[in-house]
Amino acid sequence: MQVNRYPAVIIDHRKYRENARTVYRWCHEKGLLVAGIIKGTSGITGIAADLVWAGADMIGSSRLDQIRHAQAEGVQSTWLLIRIPMLSEVPDVVATADISLNSELAVLAALNREALRQSRVHRVILMADLGDLREGWIDQEELIQAAVQVETAMDGLRLEGIGTNLGCYGSVMPTKDKLESLAALAERVEEAIGRPLDIVSGGATSSLMAVFDGYLPARINMLRIGAAPMTGPLEDLRTSYGRREMDALHDDAFVLEAEIIELKTKPSYPIGELGVDATGHSPTFIDRGMRRRAIVAVGRADYGDPYDIIPELAGAEVIGASGDHTLIDVTDVEAPLHIGDVLRFRLRYSAILNLTANEDIAVREISALD
Ligand SMILES: *Cc1c(COP(=O)(O)O)cnc(C)c1O
Repeated sequence: MQVNRYPAVIIDHRKYRENARTVYRWCHEKGLLVAGIIKGTSGITGIAADLVWAGADMIGSSRLDQIRHAQAEGVQSTWLLIRIPMLSEVPDVVATADISLNSELAVLAALNREALRQSRVHRVILMADLGDLREGWIDQEELIQAAVQVETAMDGLRLEGIGTNLGCYGSVMPTKDKLESLAALAERVEEAIGRPLDIVSGGATSSLMAVFDGYLPARINMLRIGAAPMTGPLEDLRTSYGRREMDALHDDAFVLEAEIIELKTKPSYPIGELGVDATGHSPTFIDRGMRRRAIVAVGRADYGDPYDIIPELAGAEVIGASGDHTLIDVTDVEAPLHIGDVLRFRLRYSAILNLTANEDIAVREISALD
């Protein structure tokens, strides 16, 4: 008898591929190249192949290991390292990635020396910080000087273009003025080096807003998309500021299954003197009387934050979690429930990231490409 292992992540590759194809079409119709980003799914087997099938012009990750894994699967693409490199990984960056995002001259100099040593040309995109305050040059004159230096003094590198990242640390939105300032900066770099840039990379899934609303400047010709095909409309606030275009996508390409290990009716207000919970916080409780609750065998150690898992079962509500237990209020569930039943959960981005990175979680794949 085949016994399924729980907790498990169910990956419906067909839905994920269809999502990616839809999102990439939105971009390709506007003349945009798309880098399909695999970090949100921990670069697990089959994901990069799905994105290439869907039409990704290149595949990117924050981690070289994930790029190497996809290459070892036999996936053919152009490989982009999207987390600015560590100095200590420079030899691997040159050997593994075709293109990297960069924001430090010391790293560019090391990439150049290493590329010359490996007899390769490594392509670089210089990052401009337009106010979100994660990576990138905040001083545009310094970025232009770095571009000129790469162009004139670093024969191992090719200046592929410039890019920016928004909505990550500072929650800054990809508004018209931000994207136009990136386009204007691209023109100043082109003036300084005397040739056009191949890539002007206008951000991540959040920049789809500019595609929907039609204000993406013509000079911007590439986006780096990870989240949208993973979560679709489930997380449209994070992925597209609530734009309804996301409704065209599946929200269940990635689903968590977990098994019920306790079913009891209990008070909703704890009994005794209240201190702190498993995470060290002092929660507040509302007395809703006696409630029927299920415990499923999965917890924060698996997915992170219980906010990021959403029960499919109508009437079920996540009320709390510790490392290995998730408590579900099932008082309003009409279907009969039993010990050993399996509950399914839709997943937000962080839960997909955590669950796919976790070796203890079983993975079941539907419709994977051969
Ligand atoms: C994670 C990341 C992306 C992809 O972001 P999504 O919101 O998942 O589309 C793009 N670019 C950089 C630099 C990133 O770190």
